[in-house]
Amino acid sequence: MELKTLREYIKEASEKGVAIGHFNISNIEALHGIYNAAKKLNLPVIIGVSEGEEEFIGKNEVATLVKEIREKDNYPIFLNADHHYSFESVKSAIDAGYDAAIIDAVKLPLEENILLTKKCVDYAKEFNKKNGRDILIEAENGFIGQSSKLLDKIPEGISEATMTKPEDAKTFVDQTGIDLLAPSVGNIHGMVKGGNPKLDIERIKEIRQACGVPLVLHGGSGISDEDFKKAIKAGISVIHINTEIRVAYKEALEKYLKENPNEVAPYKILAPAVEAIEQVVYNRLKLFNE
Ligand SMILES: [Zn+2]
Repeated sequence: MELKTLREYIKEASEKGVAIGHFNISNIEALHGIYNAAKKLNLPVIIGVSEGEEEFIGKNEVATLVKEIREKDNYPIFLNADHHYSFESVKSAIDAGYDAAIIDAVKLPLEENILLTKKCVDYAKEFNKKNGRDILIEAENGFIGQSSKLLDKIPEGISEATMTKPEDAKTFVDQTGIDLLAPSVGNIHGMVKGGNPKLDIERIKEIRQACGVPLVLHGGSGISDEDFKKAIKAGISVIHINTEIRVAYKEALEKYLKENPNEVAPYKILAPAVEAIEQVVYNRLKLFNE
């Protein structure tokens, strides 16, 4: 069976009322854990690397790893440049062979954000035409915080006022030509210890209708199963999970080292971490595809 493009898998997910999981990695162990889980469920999956994660694993290396799995196993696994902050870093991800990129210019004044986002879209379009690719560009509208970690409380600067307004989402999509939109709908990056805020499901519906492109939910860690299901039905087609994977990795590693203080073989030390990631991803993918 010939693989479809990421754009087609996302369209298919949106038509079926399911969502594709996007999971971040910093190393090859996480890639294996995620791929193992996706394979068990036979579902398409997106691997994400932020600028920091990408620097650690290597930009060309991660592109090669994902492409190798996709081509060797004929499996729908794709690579996304998650939250890249400059044109140069988006461009180099595209050039390296990524399948999608997020230009995150949300900190800039709106006019500058639009210009920079459009520049990335134009570059991707040109690249696609020249190389027969279909690389997608995503951008964020509204603010959702910035770090994938455990938080004591909801970060400063996040409120209903910073959530995406449907009319703004439409203008932003029209002016930039992006393929995917990451809205702010009560989601935040990171996991809040006392529980993450609830999603504004009505807002998701309105944004999806107004902007006309598939929506990506960032900051999926810590959101309740019920909210996920409702958000997907309301128009979310891709969901980002990062912090939960980081926590699972760290806890499995800590436990193993504590129980096996004399073990030095990395492939033994890290095996439980791969399994822990697989478990998290398996459960999330299953939920996103119910
Ligand atoms: Zn994000």
